[in-house]
Amino acid sequence: MEHFPDIVAVMVSVSVEGSYSYRVPPGMSVSRGSIVAVPLVGRLTLGVVWGPPKDMVAHNRLKDIAHVYDVPALSEELLTTVDWVSRYTLAAPGLVLRSVLRSTEALDVERPVTAFRKTGHEPERMTDARLRVLEVVADGSAWAKAAIVGASGVSASVIEGLERAGALQRLEMPAPPIVLPPDPDEMAPVLSAEQAGALASIRELDVGKFGVALLDGVTGGGKTEVFFEAVADTLRAGRQALILLPEIALTHTFLARFTRRFGTRPAEWHSDMTPAQRARTWRGVLSGAVRAVVGARSALFLPFRELGIIVLDEEHDGAFKQSDGVNYHARDMAVVRAKHAGARVILSSATPSVESRNNANQGRYRHVLLRSRFAEAALPDITAIDMREEPPEKGHWIAPRLAREIFATLDRGEQVLLFLNRRGYAPLTLCKACGHQYQCPDCSAWLVEHRFRGVLMCHHCGHEQRKPESCGACGAVESLVPIGPGIERVAEEAEARFPGSRKVILSSDMGTNAQLRDRFAEIERGEYDLIIGTQLVAKGHHFEKLTLVGVLDADLGLAHGDPRAAEKTFQILTQVTGRAGRAARAGRAFLQTYHPTHPVMEAMVKGDREAFYAHELKARAEGGLPPFGRLAALIVSANEHDVAFAFARGLLSAAPMAEGLRLFGPADAPISMVRGRHRVRLLAQSPKDFDLSGYVRFWLTSAERPTGNLRVQVDIDPMSFF
Ligand code: ADP
Ligand code: ZN
Repeated sequence: MEHFPDIVAVMVSVSVEGSYSYRVPPGMSVSRGSIVAVPLVGRLTLGVVWGPPKDMVAHNRLKDIAHVYDVPALSEELLTTVDWVSRYTLAAPGLVLRSVLRSTEALDVERPVTAFRKTGHEPERMTDARLRVLEVVADGSAWAKAAIVGASGVSASVIEGLERAGALQRLEMPAPPIVLPPDPDEMAPVLSAEQAGALASIRELDVGKFGVALLDGVTGGGKTEVFFEAVADTLRAGRQALILLPEIALTHTFLARFTRRFGTRPAEWHSDMTPAQRARTWRGVLSGAVRAVVGARSALFLPFRELGIIVLDEEHDGAFKQSDGVNYHARDMAVVRAKHAGARVILSSATPSVESRNNANQGRYRHVLLRSRFAEAALPDITAIDMREEPPEKGHWIAPRLAREIFATLDRGEQVLLFLNRRGYAPLTLCKACGHQYQCPDCSAWLVEHRFRGVLMCHHCGHEQRKPESCGACGAVESLVPIGPGIERVAEEAEARFPGSRKVILSSDMGTNAQLRDRFAEIERGEYDLIIGTQLVAKGHHFEKLTLVGVLDADLGLAHGDPRAAEKTFQILTQVTGRAGRAARAGRAFLQTYHPTHPVMEAMVKGDREAFYAHELKARAEGGLPPFGRLAALIVSANEHDVAFAFARGLLSAAPMAEGLRLFGPADAPISMVRGRHRVRLLAQSPKDFDLSGYVRFWLTSAERPTGNLRVQVDIDPMSFF
């Protein structure tokens, strides 16, 4: 192991630029990647030994490393990735490191478990409770205390009593592993010819080397089965596997499928876990005991030491972009980490991002196609309903033709999904007496009525108020009217029009993750006929009885001034219509639209995804937009609008000149106030081969520093433009 002299650079896990030098006290041994605690402004902070000191500092001015943790050093590829992510996103390296070192709990020595074993010695006094305990431990093996309590139903004091009486012996056992190692050969599926071809193509990437495959296959094509086999190859090669999912709500069926395939559950990593579970998983990944992890985007920063594959399921999904703290895109950073680790990446989607499609077209990624659904399932037949020609009746949202299809489908005992990507009852509440519109006091956004809970709510900051009885502006009574639909309002219409069918409404605010998972399981079992939901139900689910999908507002995503509006709309429409007809029965989908000739609608109706990608890539190329150009957003915010705007104008005039670079703004953000802060945006656009991160860093160092309550956020490769 490499040893440095007695001064080292330590990257501390706080938001500062770069590392600090510390002394290694006599008797302590550290190397690059060692996890340490160091004193920093009066308290101990976690850090990682980064290497030799950057500059020579007099010994006596340095502090000592306080403690080195007894865990393996972080891998070289992870340290390099942290540096890379920091340089690319402009987040301080210590801040990126904080995504790796999440808690000190994970670093402490794991506490042993208290267990008991029978001694064979009979206690003098015997009771029913004591007898039950002795029956449990009769097999002579050591039982964890909690397990004895669970199996016998007695209280812990009975066990302790038996210990005092000499009938039980107390032991300390190491905690059991958080998960068992997956078995790559547990239950390999019989792949269809097309799936086998896809797998063969992926296998042309060397298991031991960096390489990226885009697994581009229709919804229901059986992509999961294919990438599980690639994961199995990695496990057989003795390396660790990471599967990233966009949505925790999706994990329950996914975990079940993993368990069936590999004979044991994978380790999980997401926000729904307890701190203790997190700590044990983290430690297991670092020690190598955990071989496979299924998790949310933050799992990308787990301390794997033998990472061999990263799979991103639904790689196009916006949830892979983090936009607070470190603004990274998990898809792009997965490719970066895999490159450093010499690992393979599989990007899986029925609607790949335009970026990934372009990389595949250019031959940078291996393009692996699955063109038909697994078994006899066919892709759904899609029809556009022109809302100008066939509008719903006044006060209704479901067009007559769609309503007829719903009746017929319910009659056949099949399931219907009505999709509207808007939570709540109505997106706007208005006083019909004076015209007053209810707005959030802290955001430039309307308050959305949530009728079940009787509140008006801001979807940007969570502000909530009870729905008033009378208008807050003019005092008129019973004058407040809802404008436009949210899913609660659609549910109300469905209740009136399709009475007797079993309905469920689903959106992210409709309960805890555990409750949502229960709802999905109930839908899978066919306990509902009519499902009304937001994008939460659009992704990944496999509901066998679902044969009709009605999209109530197919245009919803198109209106924004977002360069990815068409792509996002195409993706969500493909995903949601792809829920129909995934098993034996054929599926149909209807898109209610005011723009039936829009290229997205035409591609959907013709089932011609190639037409969409061709059209979109051409438009992006012409506009110099990603993936043919680069974007970076600067969001300046302050408590006063004028302060933010003036600072943004100052930034603009301080921008260095560069060939091919274009700057836009400053302009008030579309949502110009969030949580009481006024927001002004600048956008930089550059050619593809330009170091835009480097440019923005140089720009910010040459400009005035924000002071007071001013803040500048940098978003490289922005995915949202609100
Ligand atoms: P995708 O992820 O491409 O949308 P899935 O992997 O969810 O598709 O597969 C769709 C359905 O087909 C699932 O129910 C899956 O279990 C089944 N399936 C796919 N491939 C196979 C196979 N080789 N053997 C058995 N069932 C399969
Ligand atoms: Zn608000």
